[in-house]
Amino acid sequence: MEQSFIMIKPDGVQRGLVGEIISRFEKKGFTLKGLKFLTVERSFAEKHYADLSARPFFNGLVEYIISGPVVAMIWEGKNVVATGRKIIGATNPAESAPGTIRGDFAIDIGRNVIHGSDSVENGRKEIALWFPEGPANWQSSLHPWIYE
Ligand code: UDP
Ligand code: MG
Repeated sequence: MEQSFIMIKPDGVQRGLVGEIISRFEKKGFTLKGLKFLTVERSFAEKHYADLSARPFFNGLVEYIISGPVVAMIWEGKNVVATGRKIIGATNPAESAPGTIRGDFAIDIGRNVIHGSDSVENGRKEIALWFPEGPANWQSSLHPWIYE
């Protein structure tokens, strides 16, 4: 089953959005396969965002991600990567539709509350970086009520 790496950024934690965000993924029917609360070091944040290292906003982005604790998660389910990105909304909250997490809870692109993997392959890489121990080994008993 497909997995995505989802992270509530420091602003989402500070603003008390952890429960609301987890709830949206849970209610959709996705399965929580990993969860940790941690503050990452600069070198780790730089590794997570390595693909963006040449971009002008990179340093500010790294400062933002290391500015406080984050909630790192693995969510599992059919099409969870693409659907997770829809639940999250467009990168710039000015363009995120109402009903999405960023559309409902963010204003500035540099404080957009949440990260979600943009492809299955990047999801695999991000999960390996953040969860070297691998996902939790459990199956939700709700499976037959969510999948036909
Ligand atoms: N970002 C920013 N300014 C920009 C573009 C991106 O501060 O002009 C930040 C923003 O927090 C975004 C993150 O960099 O979520 C990663 O950028 P990406 O293009 O991967 O967007 P995402 O995948 O998070 O939607
Ligand atoms: Mg991205």
